[in-house]
Amino acid sequence: MIYDLHSHSYYSDGKLRPSDLVARAIEQGVNVLSLTDHDTVLGIVEAQQAAKGTELKLIPGIEFSCTWNYKTIHIVGLNIDPNNAQLLNAIETLKIRRETRAKLITQKLTKFGIPGVEEGVAQQIKGVPGRLHYARYLVERGYASTPGKAFKKFMAKGKPGYVPTEWLSLSDTVDIIKCAGGLSIIAHPRRYDLTFKRLTKLAQEFADLGGDGIEVATSSQGKEDQALLASLARQLSLYASIGSDFHEPCVYNELGKARFLVDIDKNINSLLQVS
Ligand code: AMP
Ligand code: MN
Ligand code: MN
Ligand code: MN
Repeated sequence: MIYDLHSHSYYSDGKLRPSDLVARAIEQGVNVLSLTDHDTVLGIVEAQQAAKGTELKLIPGIEFSCTWNYKTIHIVGLNIDPNNAQLLNAIETLKIRRETRAKLITQKLTKFGIPGVEEGVAQQIKGVPGRLHYARYLVERGYASTPGKAFKKFMAKGKPGYVPTEWLSLSDTVDIIKCAGGLSIIAHPRRYDLTFKRLTKLAQEFADLGGDGIEVATSSQGKEDQALLASLARQLSLYASIGSDFHEPCVYNELGKARFLVDIDKNINSLLQVS
């Protein structure tokens, strides 16, 4: 069975519409897919409809932005009820914050001298605005050669398009996901620029709050990271999760590409009741 429990559609900063994402996952041999757009569930119905009558099991999901000790941490919610009132309430709060931030980023980049930012970004947005929309626009206009470089040059702390934002607290995030009947997972743990000691503190706090799991396998984590995270998961009795964090077709990330390379007993798959 191939699981991919972290992916994006064009309702956040992915490029494919949900039905195309599902079709691509099937092509790649994925059996269980979760659509986990940033702070939105707009794509879930379309993804569910596309998966209906196919071999693919679609798990409704979300990737929440939260703030922990002044750092932005992403928490994936798996198997959530997308109609849960508290979940929708949190989504509304985050939508306002994202839109407020987007206006400020547009203002700052425009002031910096970049033309057409508002339209260039608006064109891409089907759901919630994100920084990757800005990065892609900057690449399109030749201000950077890759989105990664655009992030470094324009969106990072101290750069022209940087706008600090306060997201949900870790505790609220875990509660909301639980309230919506889902499982909470620390997304891509090695991408926060945290020492392993700090990451352990985050994971410990998360586990104490009732968090469920941690992404052990994701496309940006190599074998060594996986082994380290697997031991952290074991130590804290967290479930191990797996997801590509797919955003768009490209050579270094593909749906279903992240695979477990280490043996883990407490596997999130076992909680998803997939037959
Ligand atoms: P946001 O949630 O709007 O602050 O944007 C975060 C998203 O931007 C992540 O989910 C990635 O998709 C993307 N991102 C962040 N850093 C980079 C980077 N260095 N290169 C490419 N994409 C990035
Ligand atoms: Mn993203
Ligand atoms: Mn993320
Ligand atoms: Mn993601």
